[in-house]
Amino acid sequence: MLRLAACVLMIVLLQPPSTHANLLNGDHALAMHTLHRSDPTSFSDVPHYRLDTLFEPSAQRWRGWLQVRFRNPSTTPLTSIYMRLFANLKDFNGEASIYRPTVNGQRATISYERNNYLARIDYAEPIAVGADIELTLDFLTVMPIDAGTRFYGAFNDDGTSISMASAYPLIAEFRDNEWLREIPDGKGDLVNTPIATYDVEVTLPLSHRIVATGSAIAYQRRAQEHTYQLVSGLQRDFMLVATTLPVVTTVVDGTRINIYHDASQRTAAYTAMRYAAQSLRTFNHLFGQYPYNELDFVSVDARSFYGVEYPGVVLLQDRLFMNQPLLERIITHEVAHQWFYNVVGNDVQQHAWVDESIATYSQVLYQEQVYGDVGKNRELAALQAQYDELVKRKRDGPIDQPMSEFTLYTFNAIAYAKGALYLDALRQTAGDEAFFAALLSYVDRYQYQIVDGTALRDEVQQQCTCDVQSVYQTWVLAQDDTETE
Ligand SMILES: [Zn+2]
Repeated sequence: MLRLAACVLMIVLLQPPSTHANLLNGDHALAMHTLHRSDPTSFSDVPHYRLDTLFEPSAQRWRGWLQVRFRNPSTTPLTSIYMRLFANLKDFNGEASIYRPTVNGQRATISYERNNYLARIDYAEPIAVGADIELTLDFLTVMPIDAGTRFYGAFNDDGTSISMASAYPLIAEFRDNEWLREIPDGKGDLVNTPIATYDVEVTLPLSHRIVATGSAIAYQRRAQEHTYQLVSGLQRDFMLVATTLPVVTTVVDGTRINIYHDASQRTAAYTAMRYAAQSLRTFNHLFGQYPYNELDFVSVDARSFYGVEYPGVVLLQDRLFMNQPLLERIITHEVAHQWFYNVVGNDVQQHAWVDESIATYSQVLYQEQVYGDVGKNRELAALQAQYDELVKRKRDGPIDQPMSEFTLYTFNAIAYAKGALYLDALRQTAGDEAFFAALLSYVDRYQYQIVDGTALRDEVQQQCTCDVQSVYQTWVLAQDDTETE
């Protein structure tokens, strides 16, 4: 399936790094909301990606030069670095290759592992403990066409939008003093990453415009093509979409919301914009101000999901625009993920329930805020029915399980529905005042970090005199005596 031999020919066409100077860290503040511009006090401590790239829609290709700076994560001198090439995963159905790596100026060699999902980069001179690393390489990513019906679909050219989910080489996870080399489970979100900053330059034909994580700080238009210079602020990943779709736009609490939609769905796009604005306003109130200047939604031809969250970008299945109740629910869920997954991160493979449960419970909170008890009870009843069905089928189990232990059915019924009901039980135990105070302090305390499910539990515990430990034990950890599989 991989056409690596053909890709080698591309090396000579890759452009050298562009001549623009290293961007000042201060530029990243431009992608942050005005209330969060003092957040990036630790820019020097987070990985920093810089990409100079060409996007070729007609060839379904994204290629260019990547530099990543990060600190040696090992307690011993480091002699190799692993990069993840998500496009090479079976579910992504694309191709990715890297060329000409250097590590702190040394020439390095590449070998591929795990069906080309991982690229191992070896170099002669070990990097000292605690030392800074500068890795550079050229990369080429080829995306599938119309893969949304058969594959994951967030990495796909659907004819109007080209979605490049996790399409650049990412540093692999480093855990327990070694590189994590497992192929991620594709039932849900795949990408675990620490907060990083991204400076990305993209040149592409005038036929397509760029939708991306962060904000454009410079733009240049020429006869045949245009160039965007983007900065991310503090974000967990970099999502890039090249689209021909028109946009409707509004500003909520200082954040610009963009809805890229099919022109025939203009009325539904305004409805989507209203739902997105209501969600953002509601969650700014409940969770603290959304930290970024922009939030983009793109309608895509996908069949394997209704919506997927990326930092500052949400993909929505195009059919949702013909189903208002579902459109509202999915937008609410994906907007909540901007806080829970992105700002407050969690291991989306080992503890996927942590962000999915609260994004799902956020649907209840939104309904309650916008429509009152009628909306809240309707949403809770739907989740309860999903959980009751799970119990009836004797498939109940603990919420805190790795994704690999779930089936698609139990993942949805347990990590989402049962997880949300656990949060409602936590709220009832603590009382509203303590619960809502805990939501605000949870986001404030753990923003830009990675947590597990105990962090919110303990935050609620600090706000109340009740016992939340037994609620956690019963809902999250207890092994039901019925079969789980
Ligand atoms: Zn979700």
